[in-house]
Amino acid sequence: MGQGAADKQAGESAPVPWEGRDAITRSAVLNRILVRIAREALQGDNLDALMRGICECLVAELPVAIASVILLDDAGTHFVNEVYAGEFTLSPLPSEGAWPVSRGCAGRCARTGAVQLIDDVDRDPDYVAGNAEVRSEYLVPIRHRQRMHGVLNLESTQHDFFDAEVCRVFDAVADLVAGAIHFARLADALQVANGKLEQLSMIDGLTGIANRRHFDAELQRQWQQLGKARQPLALLMIDVDAFKALNDACGHLYGDECLRELASLCQRHAEARGLAARFGGEELVLLLPGKGVQAALASAEGLRAAVEQLARPHPASPVGPHLTVSVGVASRIPDPMQAPEQLLAEADRALYVAKAQGRNQVRLLRGA
Ligand code: GH3
Ligand code: MG
Ligand code: MG
Repeated sequence: MGQGAADKQAGESAPVPWEGRDAITRSAVLNRILVRIAREALQGDNLDALMRGICECLVAELPVAIASVILLDDAGTHFVNEVYAGEFTLSPLPSEGAWPVSRGCAGRCARTGAVQLIDDVDRDPDYVAGNAEVRSEYLVPIRHRQRMHGVLNLESTQHDFFDAEVCRVFDAVADLVAGAIHFARLADALQVANGKLEQLSMIDGLTGIANRRHFDAELQRQWQQLGKARQPLALLMIDVDAFKALNDACGHLYGDECLRELASLCQRHAEARGLAARFGGEELVLLLPGKGVQAALASAEGLRAAVEQLARPHPASPVGPHLTVSVGVASRIPDPMQAPEQLLAEADRALYVAKAQGRNQVRLLRGA
Protein backbone atom coordinates (compact mmCIF):
# COMPACT_ATOMS: atom_id res chain seq x y z
CA MET A 1 0.00 0.00 0.00
CA GLY A 2 1.35 3.46 -0.90
CA GLN A 3 0.35 6.55 1.08
CA GLY A 4 -2.45 5.34 3.41
CA ALA A 5 -5.96 5.16 1.97
CA ALA A 6 -7.17 7.51 4.68
CA ASP A 7 -4.60 10.10 3.54
CA LYS A 8 -5.84 9.94 -0.01
CA GLN A 9 -9.45 10.46 1.07
CA ALA A 10 -8.48 13.49 3.11
CA GLY A 11 -6.42 14.95 0.26
CA GLU A 12 -2.74 15.94 0.19
CA SER A 13 -3.09 19.16 2.19
CA ALA A 14 -4.79 17.78 5.31
CA PRO A 15 -3.58 14.30 6.30
CA VAL A 16 -5.85 12.50 8.73
CA PRO A 17 -4.47 12.82 12.28
CA TRP A 18 -3.26 9.65 13.97
CA GLU A 19 -6.25 9.48 16.33
CA GLY A 20 -8.62 9.68 13.34
CA ARG A 21 -7.17 6.57 11.67
CA ASP A 22 -8.48 3.07 12.20
CA ALA A 23 -6.27 0.25 13.48
CA ILE A 24 -5.59 -1.18 10.00
CA THR A 25 -4.50 2.15 8.58
CA ARG A 26 -2.26 2.76 11.58
CA SER A 27 -0.62 -0.63 11.07
CA ALA A 28 -0.12 0.13 7.40
CA VAL A 29 1.55 3.47 8.20
CA LEU A 30 3.81 1.85 10.81
CA ASN A 31 4.78 -0.91 8.37
CA ARG A 32 5.56 1.57 5.64
CA ILE A 33 7.78 3.57 8.02
CA LEU A 34 9.58 0.45 9.14
CA VAL A 35 10.23 -0.77 5.60
CA ARG A 36 11.56 2.63 4.58
CA ILE A 37 13.86 2.92 7.60
CA ALA A 38 15.10 -0.67 7.17
CA ARG A 39 16.00 0.01 3.54
CA GLU A 40 17.79 3.25 4.38
CA ALA A 41 19.64 1.69 7.33
CA LEU A 42 20.97 -1.09 5.10
CA GLN A 43 21.83 1.04 2.09
CA GLY A 44 22.87 4.45 3.43
CA ASP A 45 26.57 5.24 3.72
CA ASN A 46 26.36 8.41 5.80
CA LEU A 47 25.42 7.65 9.38
CA ASP A 48 24.58 11.22 10.37
CA ALA A 49 22.30 11.68 7.37
CA LEU A 50 20.66 8.32 8.08
CA MET A 51 19.87 9.19 11.72
CA ARG A 52 18.57 12.61 10.73
CA GLY A 53 16.42 11.04 8.00
CA ILE A 54 14.92 8.57 10.48
CA CYS A 55 14.06 11.32 12.97
CA GLU A 56 12.52 13.49 10.24
CA CYS A 57 10.46 10.58 8.95
CA LEU A 58 9.07 9.82 12.43
CA VAL A 59 8.18 13.46 13.12
CA ALA A 60 6.55 13.89 9.70
CA GLU A 61 4.45 10.73 9.75
CA LEU A 62 3.47 10.32 13.39
CA PRO A 63 2.19 12.49 16.26
CA VAL A 64 5.77 12.85 17.43
CA ALA A 65 6.88 16.37 18.39
CA ILE A 66 10.52 15.47 18.94
CA ALA A 67 12.45 12.44 17.68
CA SER A 68 16.14 12.11 18.41
CA VAL A 69 19.04 9.70 18.42
CA ILE A 70 21.36 10.48 21.32
CA LEU A 71 24.78 8.88 21.08
CA LEU A 72 27.00 7.86 24.01
CA ASP A 73 30.76 8.25 24.30
CA ASP A 74 32.97 5.13 24.28
CA ALA A 75 32.87 4.88 28.09
CA GLY A 76 29.06 5.03 28.08
CA THR A 77 29.09 7.74 30.76
CA HIS A 78 28.16 10.79 28.68
CA PHE A 79 25.91 11.65 25.78
CA VAL A 80 28.06 13.35 23.19
CA ASN A 81 25.89 13.88 20.14
CA GLU A 82 22.19 14.30 19.49
CA VAL A 83 20.64 14.12 16.04
CA TYR A 84 17.03 15.25 16.09
CA ALA A 85 13.96 16.40 14.26
CA GLY A 86 11.01 18.35 15.63
CA GLU A 87 10.62 21.47 17.67
CA PHE A 88 12.39 22.39 20.89
CA THR A 89 10.28 25.30 22.12
CA LEU A 90 11.27 25.33 25.81
CA SER A 91 14.84 24.26 26.46
CA PRO A 92 17.88 25.26 24.43
CA LEU A 93 18.69 23.06 21.45
CA PRO A 94 20.50 19.85 22.31
CA SER A 95 24.04 18.84 21.24
CA GLU A 96 25.69 21.64 23.20
CA GLY A 97 28.60 19.73 24.70
CA ALA A 98 28.56 16.38 26.50
CA TRP A 99 26.10 15.67 29.28
CA PRO A 100 26.26 12.87 31.84
CA VAL A 101 23.95 9.84 31.82
CA SER A 102 23.00 10.76 35.41
CA ARG A 103 20.63 13.34 33.85
CA GLY A 104 17.16 13.03 32.35
CA CYS A 105 14.98 10.18 31.17
CA ALA A 106 17.46 9.40 28.36
CA GLY A 107 20.15 9.02 31.03
CA ARG A 108 17.91 6.60 32.93
CA CYS A 109 17.42 4.58 29.75
CA ALA A 110 21.18 4.46 29.11
CA ARG A 111 22.00 3.60 32.76
CA THR A 112 19.45 0.83 33.10
CA GLY A 113 19.66 -0.43 29.50
CA ALA A 114 15.85 -0.78 29.60
CA VAL A 115 13.10 0.90 27.55
CA GLN A 116 11.35 3.78 29.33
CA LEU A 117 7.65 4.33 28.64
CA ILE A 118 6.42 7.58 30.20
CA ASP A 119 2.65 8.03 29.81
CA ASP A 120 2.59 11.40 31.51
CA VAL A 121 5.77 13.44 31.36
CA ASP A 122 4.49 15.87 34.04
CA ARG A 123 4.69 13.07 36.60
CA ASP A 124 8.23 11.96 35.78
CA PRO A 125 10.81 13.78 37.94
CA ASP A 126 13.62 13.07 35.44
CA TYR A 127 11.81 14.54 32.44
CA VAL A 128 13.53 17.58 30.92
CA ALA A 129 10.92 19.46 28.91
CA GLY A 130 11.89 20.51 25.39
CA ASN A 131 8.44 21.23 23.99
CA ALA A 132 5.35 22.37 25.95
CA GLU A 133 3.00 20.25 23.81
CA VAL A 134 4.64 16.95 24.74
CA ARG A 135 2.54 14.60 26.91
CA SER A 136 4.30 11.24 26.67
CA GLU A 137 7.74 9.86 25.89
CA TYR A 138 9.27 6.56 24.82
CA LEU A 139 12.99 5.85 25.06
CA VAL A 140 14.71 2.77 23.63
CA PRO A 141 18.32 1.71 24.16
CA ILE A 142 20.31 1.57 20.93
CA ARG A 143 22.36 -1.53 21.57
CA HIS A 144 24.25 -3.87 19.26
CA ARG A 145 25.08 -7.13 21.05
CA GLN A 146 26.56 -5.96 24.37
CA ARG A 147 27.58 -2.47 23.22
CA MET A 148 25.30 0.45 24.13
CA HIS A 149 25.58 3.10 21.43
CA GLY A 150 22.90 5.47 22.68
CA VAL A 151 19.18 6.07 23.05
CA LEU A 152 16.29 6.55 20.61
CA ASN A 153 14.05 9.25 22.09
CA LEU A 154 10.47 9.89 20.97
CA GLU A 155 8.20 12.53 22.48
CA SER A 156 4.52 12.63 21.57
CA THR A 157 1.83 15.26 21.90
CA GLN A 158 -0.63 12.49 22.89
CA HIS A 159 -0.89 10.66 26.21
CA ASP A 160 -1.80 7.31 24.70
CA PHE A 161 0.23 7.26 21.47
CA PHE A 162 2.81 4.70 22.59
CA ASP A 163 0.67 1.54 22.52
CA ALA A 164 2.17 -1.95 22.22
CA GLU A 165 2.24 -1.96 18.39
CA VAL A 166 3.83 1.49 18.13
CA CYS A 167 6.44 0.56 20.75
CA ARG A 168 7.32 -2.64 18.88
CA VAL A 169 8.01 -0.61 15.74
CA PHE A 170 10.23 1.84 17.66
CA ASP A 171 12.09 -1.08 19.25
CA ALA A 172 12.79 -2.39 15.75
CA VAL A 173 13.86 1.09 14.58
CA ALA A 174 16.34 1.27 17.50
CA ASP A 175 17.74 -2.15 16.47
CA LEU A 176 18.16 -0.95 12.89
CA VAL A 177 19.93 2.21 14.05
CA ALA A 178 22.17 0.09 16.30
CA GLY A 179 23.12 -2.13 13.35
CA ALA A 180 23.82 0.88 11.13
CA ILE A 181 26.01 2.49 13.84
CA HIS A 182 27.84 -0.79 14.40
CA PHE A 183 28.69 -1.22 10.72
CA ALA A 184 29.58 2.45 10.27
CA ARG A 185 32.01 2.25 13.21
CA LEU A 186 33.39 -1.03 11.89
CA ALA A 187 33.99 0.63 8.51
CA ASP A 188 35.75 3.56 10.25
CA ALA A 189 37.96 1.19 12.26
CA LEU A 190 38.81 -0.76 9.10
CA GLN A 191 39.76 2.43 7.31
CA VAL A 192 42.07 3.44 10.17
CA ALA A 193 43.61 -0.06 10.29
CA ASN A 194 44.11 -0.03 6.51
CA GLY A 195 45.83 3.34 6.76
CA LYS A 196 48.19 1.97 9.43
CA LEU A 197 48.93 -1.13 7.36
CA GLU A 198 49.60 1.02 4.31
CA GLN A 199 52.08 3.07 6.38
CA LEU A 200 53.73 -0.06 7.78
CA SER A 201 54.11 -1.58 4.33
CA MET A 202 56.27 1.43 3.38
CA ILE A 203 58.62 1.28 6.37
CA ASP A 204 61.74 -0.78 6.95
CA GLY A 205 61.33 -2.80 10.15
CA LEU A 206 64.91 -2.55 11.39
CA THR A 207 65.70 1.12 10.79
CA GLY A 208 62.26 2.78 10.70
CA ILE A 209 63.06 4.67 7.49
CA ALA A 210 61.41 4.09 4.10
CA ASN A 211 61.81 0.62 2.62
CA ARG A 212 62.66 -0.40 -0.93
CA ARG A 213 58.99 -0.44 -1.94
CA HIS A 214 58.52 3.13 -0.81
CA PHE A 215 61.76 4.18 -2.47
CA ASP A 216 60.81 2.61 -5.83
CA ALA A 217 57.47 4.46 -5.82
CA GLU A 218 59.06 7.76 -4.83
CA LEU A 219 61.80 7.41 -7.46
CA GLN A 220 59.12 6.94 -10.15
CA ARG A 221 57.14 9.90 -8.86
CA GLN A 222 60.10 12.29 -8.59
CA TRP A 223 61.49 11.17 -11.94
CA GLN A 224 58.25 12.12 -13.71
CA GLN A 225 57.67 15.31 -11.74
CA LEU A 226 61.18 16.73 -12.04
CA GLY A 227 61.41 15.64 -15.68
CA LYS A 228 58.38 17.78 -16.47
CA ALA A 229 59.77 20.68 -14.41
CA ARG A 230 63.21 20.28 -16.09
CA GLN A 231 64.93 20.11 -12.71
CA PRO A 232 67.66 17.69 -11.61
CA LEU A 233 67.14 14.63 -9.44
CA ALA A 234 70.09 13.31 -7.44
CA LEU A 235 70.53 9.83 -6.05
CA LEU A 236 73.12 8.78 -3.47
CA MET A 237 73.84 5.09 -2.96
CA ILE A 238 75.47 4.49 0.39
CA ASP A 239 77.16 1.25 1.39
CA VAL A 240 78.82 0.45 4.72
CA ASP A 241 82.47 -0.45 4.38
CA ALA A 242 83.48 -3.93 5.49
CA PHE A 243 80.16 -4.55 7.19
CA LYS A 244 80.50 -8.30 7.04
CA ALA A 245 83.78 -8.05 8.93
CA LEU A 246 82.06 -5.76 11.48
CA ASN A 247 79.32 -8.34 12.07
CA ASP A 248 81.92 -11.06 12.41
CA ALA A 249 84.00 -9.04 14.86
CA CYS A 250 81.30 -7.37 16.98
CA GLY A 251 78.15 -9.43 16.40
CA HIS A 252 75.01 -8.81 14.34
CA LEU A 253 73.28 -6.82 17.09
CA TYR A 254 76.05 -4.24 17.04
CA GLY A 255 75.83 -4.28 13.23
CA ASP A 256 72.08 -3.59 13.49
CA GLU A 257 72.73 -0.70 15.87
CA CYS A 258 75.19 0.82 13.40
CA LEU A 259 72.62 0.47 10.58
CA ARG A 260 69.96 2.25 12.65
CA GLU A 261 72.32 5.10 13.43
CA LEU A 262 73.36 5.40 9.80
CA ALA A 263 69.68 5.40 8.75
CA SER A 264 68.80 8.30 11.03
CA LEU A 265 71.84 10.21 9.80
CA CYS A 266 70.66 9.69 6.20
CA GLN A 267 67.18 10.77 7.23
CA ARG A 268 68.60 14.07 8.48
CA HIS A 269 70.51 14.54 5.22
CA ALA A 270 67.34 13.98 3.19
CA GLU A 271 66.14 17.49 4.07
CA ALA A 272 62.50 18.48 3.56
CA ARG A 273 61.87 17.19 0.03
CA GLY A 274 64.21 14.21 -0.07
CA LEU A 275 63.79 10.60 0.91
CA ALA A 276 66.14 8.30 2.79
CA ALA A 277 65.47 4.59 2.33
CA ARG A 278 67.00 1.22 3.05
CA PHE A 279 67.73 -0.27 -0.34
CA GLY A 280 68.63 -3.68 1.06
CA GLY A 281 71.16 -5.22 3.48
CA GLU A 282 73.68 -2.54 4.47
CA GLU A 283 72.91 -0.35 1.48
CA LEU A 284 70.92 2.84 1.84
CA VAL A 285 69.77 5.39 -0.73
CA LEU A 286 69.07 9.10 -0.62
CA LEU A 287 66.86 10.79 -3.19
CA LEU A 288 67.57 14.51 -3.39
CA PRO A 289 65.15 16.34 -5.71
CA GLY A 290 66.40 19.58 -7.20
CA LYS A 291 70.10 18.88 -6.51
CA GLY A 292 72.47 19.13 -9.43
CA VAL A 293 75.85 17.39 -9.57
CA GLN A 294 77.75 19.84 -7.35
CA ALA A 295 75.06 20.05 -4.66
CA ALA A 296 74.66 16.27 -4.66
CA LEU A 297 78.41 15.76 -4.28
CA ALA A 298 78.45 18.24 -1.39
CA SER A 299 75.58 16.39 0.34
CA ALA A 300 77.31 13.05 -0.17
CA GLU A 301 80.58 14.38 1.22
CA GLY A 302 78.73 15.87 4.22
CA LEU A 303 77.12 12.52 4.91
CA ARG A 304 80.37 10.57 4.52
CA ALA A 305 82.15 12.91 6.94
CA ALA A 306 79.25 12.76 9.42
CA VAL A 307 79.45 8.95 9.49
CA GLU A 308 83.18 9.13 10.15
CA GLN A 309 82.57 11.66 12.94
CA LEU A 310 80.18 9.28 14.66
CA ALA A 311 83.39 7.46 15.60
CA ARG A 312 81.60 4.14 15.86
CA PRO A 313 84.31 1.55 16.60
CA HIS A 314 84.99 -0.84 13.71
CA PRO A 315 87.90 -3.00 14.87
CA ALA A 316 87.94 -5.10 11.69
CA SER A 317 87.92 -2.33 9.06
CA PRO A 318 90.74 -2.10 6.51
CA VAL A 319 89.97 1.66 6.23
CA GLY A 320 90.45 2.90 9.81
CA PRO A 321 89.34 2.35 13.42
CA HIS A 322 85.78 3.63 12.87
CA LEU A 323 82.68 2.87 10.83
CA THR A 324 82.81 4.40 7.34
CA VAL A 325 80.69 4.42 4.20
CA SER A 326 81.32 4.67 0.47
CA VAL A 327 78.91 6.73 -1.62
CA GLY A 328 78.05 6.59 -5.31
CA VAL A 329 76.44 9.75 -6.68
CA ALA A 330 74.32 10.37 -9.78
CA SER A 331 72.34 13.44 -10.76
CA ARG A 332 70.55 14.45 -13.94
CA ILE A 333 67.46 16.10 -15.31
CA PRO A 334 65.13 13.12 -15.78
CA ASP A 335 63.84 12.17 -19.19
CA PRO A 336 60.25 11.04 -18.48
CA MET A 337 60.41 8.79 -21.56
CA GLN A 338 63.27 6.78 -20.00
CA ALA A 339 63.21 4.45 -17.01
CA PRO A 340 64.46 5.97 -13.72
CA GLU A 341 66.46 2.81 -13.02
CA GLN A 342 69.27 4.28 -15.12
CA LEU A 343 69.89 6.79 -12.32
CA LEU A 344 70.17 3.88 -9.89
CA ALA A 345 72.53 1.97 -12.17
CA GLU A 346 74.73 5.04 -12.52
CA ALA A 347 74.96 5.62 -8.76
CA ASP A 348 75.66 1.90 -8.32
CA ARG A 349 78.56 2.04 -10.78
CA ALA A 350 79.94 5.11 -9.02
CA LEU A 351 79.71 3.25 -5.71
CA TYR A 352 81.67 0.36 -7.21
CA VAL A 353 84.43 2.81 -8.17
CA ALA A 354 84.46 4.29 -4.63
CA LYS A 355 84.91 0.79 -3.23
CA ALA A 356 87.59 -0.12 -5.75
CA GLN A 357 89.53 3.04 -5.00
CA GLY A 358 89.83 2.36 -1.28
CA ARG A 359 86.40 2.98 0.35
CA ASN A 360 85.35 5.82 2.70
CA GLN A 361 84.91 8.13 -0.27
CA VAL A 362 82.37 9.74 -2.59
CA ARG A 363 82.42 9.10 -6.33
CA LEU A 364 80.53 10.39 -9.36
CA LEU A 365 80.96 9.05 -12.90
CA ARG A 366 82.13 11.98 -15.02
CA GLY A 367 80.43 12.22 -18.39
CA ALA A 368 77.78 9.66 -17.48
P1 GH3 B 1 82.21 -3.78 1.31
O1 GH3 B 1 83.13 -2.88 2.02
O2 GH3 B 1 82.76 -4.23 0.00
O3 GH3 B 1 80.86 -3.21 1.17
O4 GH3 B 1 82.12 -5.09 2.18
P2 GH3 B 1 80.93 -5.58 3.05
O5 GH3 B 1 81.40 -6.60 4.00
O6 GH3 B 1 80.23 -4.43 3.66
O7 GH3 B 1 79.95 -6.20 1.97
P3 GH3 B 1 79.33 -7.62 1.84
O8 GH3 B 1 78.32 -7.49 0.73
O9 GH3 B 1 80.39 -8.67 1.67
O10 GH3 B 1 78.61 -7.89 3.20
C1 GH3 B 1 77.45 -7.25 3.59
C2 GH3 B 1 77.05 -7.77 4.92
O11 GH3 B 1 75.94 -7.09 5.45
C3 GH3 B 1 76.70 -9.26 4.87
C4 GH3 B 1 75.42 -9.35 5.66
O12 GH3 B 1 75.48 -10.35 6.63
C5 GH3 B 1 75.29 -8.00 6.34
N1 GH3 B 1 73.92 -7.61 6.56
C6 GH3 B 1 72.94 -7.49 5.64
N2 GH3 B 1 71.79 -7.07 6.24
C7 GH3 B 1 72.07 -6.97 7.57
C8 GH3 B 1 71.30 -6.61 8.72
O13 GH3 B 1 70.09 -6.29 8.64
N3 GH3 B 1 71.91 -6.59 9.92
C9 GH3 B 1 73.22 -6.93 10.05
N4 GH3 B 1 73.77 -6.88 11.27
N5 GH3 B 1 73.95 -7.30 8.99
C10 GH3 B 1 73.40 -7.31 7.77
MG1 MG C 1 76.73 -4.02 0.09
MG1 MG D 1 79.30 -3.01 2.39
